[in-house]
Amino acid sequence: MKANIVLLGPPGSGKGTQGEMLSEELGYAKLSTGDMLREAVRNKTPLGLEAKAYMDGGGLVPNDLIIGLMKEKIASLAPGTGAIFDGFPRTVEQADSLGEQIDVDLALNLDVADGEIVKRLTFRRSCSKCNAVYHLEYNPPKRDGLCDKCGSALYQRDDDMEETVRNRLKVYREKTLPLIEYYESKGRLVTIEGVGDIAGIFAKVKKAVE
Ligand code: AMP
Repeated sequence: MKANIVLLGPPGSGKGTQGEMLSEELGYAKLSTGDMLREAVRNKTPLGLEAKAYMDGGGLVPNDLIIGLMKEKIASLAPGTGAIFDGFPRTVEQADSLGEQIDVDLALNLDVADGEIVKRLTFRRSCSKCNAVYHLEYNPPKRDGLCDKCGSALYQRDDDMEETVRNRLKVYREKTLPLIEYYESKGRLVTIEGVGDIAGIFAKVKKAVE
């Protein structure tokens, strides 16, 4: 029976990258609300149209929309498969809702300082198709502007511009930081320093999971 894992940490702390590696190497299902929302925006669905303005400003999409979106996805998970939640929950209300549906076995908190976050996100490029992420300096794609995994074009997310990044950090502190205490009080929290090379961080993440 695999664990249900919540990834915590500020935007740009490596939740997407580490979650992807865990899911590929250990066979977990990965649910990323950010990826789902960006897909909804690309497809101009009613959810995408409503969410876009919040996302562009670096704010949070309202709880009822996110909880509604995730309820179905969580309900469709095969029992015991193990799931990784990337970018959800982001508020105490979302965490309460998740806890009503499944047991969270581990909350992994990737700790990265603000200055490092701004450097990371402004140099981040994302794949328009498969959501893989790169850093122009630390983890550049092999071919300029193209994804190593699927060959599609890379782009800079609108919300990775510096001003929006600063707002996302502010929102993170106000709305999401209380979740560290929330999971700590339940005895589920493990904090990992999210700086250094990706493989080194992954080794620590894997140890916490296994
Ligand atoms: P991410 O890719 O996780 O950084 O998410 C990108 C943006 O999507 C965030 O800045 C929010 O606007 C929105 N978003 C993603 N997940 C959530 C969530 N759980 N609750 C509210 N908004 C979210």
